[in-house]
Amino acid sequence: MKYSKLFGKTIKDSPKDEPSVNARLLIQAGFIRKEVAGVYNFLPLGLRVLNKISNIIREEMNNTGAQELLLVSLQNKTNWEKTGRWNSFDALFKVKSRYDFEYALGPTHEEVLVPLVNNFVNSYRDLPLKLYQIQNKFRDEARPKAGLLRGREFLMKDLYSFHESEEDLMKYYTLMKKVYKKTFSRLGLDAIETVASGGTFSEFSHEYQVVCESGEDEIIYCPGGDFSENVEIIENPEKLENKQCDLGHGPLKRVKVVEVGNIFPLMDKFSKPFNLTYKDKDGKDQYVSMGCYGIGISRVMGVIVEVHHDDRGIIWPENVAPYQVHLIHLGGVHLSTSEAYNKLVKARVEVLYDDRKNVSAGQKFADADLIGIPVRLVVSEKTGEKIDPAFGGVEWKERDKDKTEVIPIDQAIGRLKTG
Ligand code: ATP
Ligand code: MG
Repeated sequence: MKYSKLFGKTIKDSPKDEPSVNARLLIQAGFIRKEVAGVYNFLPLGLRVLNKISNIIREEMNNTGAQELLLVSLQNKTNWEKTGRWNSFDALFKVKSRYDFEYALGPTHEEVLVPLVNNFVNSYRDLPLKLYQIQNKFRDEARPKAGLLRGREFLMKDLYSFHESEEDLMKYYTLMKKVYKKTFSRLGLDAIETVASGGTFSEFSHEYQVVCESGEDEIIYCPGGDFSENVEIIENPEKLENKQCDLGHGPLKRVKVVEVGNIFPLMDKFSKPFNLTYKDKDGKDQYVSMGCYGIGISRVMGVIVEVHHDDRGIIWPENVAPYQVHLIHLGGVHLSTSEAYNKLVKARVEVLYDDRKNVSAGQKFADADLIGIPVRLVVSEKTGEKIDPAFGGVEWKERDKDKTEVIPIDQAIGRLKTG
């Protein structure tokens, strides 16, 4: 991609009306633009990051045997009345048709999926079943001031599992705990598995929490990794806070966190109102046991920026970076830069090429740091001569390091291909 043609450029000053680090950097670097509070447009660079995050999650969910589908956003009010959530779900957006109906604008999808699954599940042979989607959710949040961390419209992966028994549900639930850890680590996030209340659903749930100053939640956890609990449910947090870890890992810590995902054993909470039953081996009707598993995809993008940045801009982890390499052309050797660009494209390296003619070197470097692509390659008269007079070398620099080195373009491609 040539930067001169890219829709969505960097801007000089960070937006003054955005209190959060993630929104300030993402807007300034040209990834997103605010529509209204808590609602953001994703520009081409931003969409590339969202897609990378989504694809990693998709791969991990598919590996557990789950199938992807796409459910509606305009949802049947009757089903929301059946579960009692038409009036009890605080953040529910209600949409009136000018003709007849009123709809729920989907904040979550139990009210859609459970009746749908009821059409297809009759016997124990139809179970287990795992279904998920990646889709925009709508919630009338009270304080949408944290950029992508809390949107009124946001992208979520929501997976729902359906089982014969609580035992089978808990087997999948335990697998999902492992899968979630792996997924967040692939996304460049150290997510702490945290015990939380199950609300009105179950005794407990698990949240995946990332330590972050701007987080709205608090956990008390053992840095050794064997304990973490949401402060909200702890009866006497001050007492626990000063305790030593039972396994000898030292004192427990109390920190601010952002929830990037959570998993819930729903049991028969939704099977009952929709009468979702199956015939067991003896021909007896039993309620289906359900679990649900969410990841906030656009929130993950915001959290990555909150934890991976410096005073110059974003530092994307490799797996989610919009491009693998940021190629910069300087001075009078335009031919060599184009050649380097063509070579990179041919080798299927994802490259953003700053081909702008009337922009200073300083500005190009500042933009590269702000955008945060993991590797910067510069072709200039200096690098061109050093390696090969016919073609030249490139200067290699990683976003999170100071060191630069000049190497042949083919060697740079080799490094980028092997990771
Ligand atoms: P929170 O506790 O942050 O309000 P939640 O417990 O209501 O979230 P779920 O309904 O379980 O969240 O949604 C699954 C995931 O979607 C959450 O773990 C979070 O990552 C993300 N999410 C929830 N609400 C928002 C929002 N308003 N904006 C962005 N992401 C969100
Ligand atoms: Mg929560």
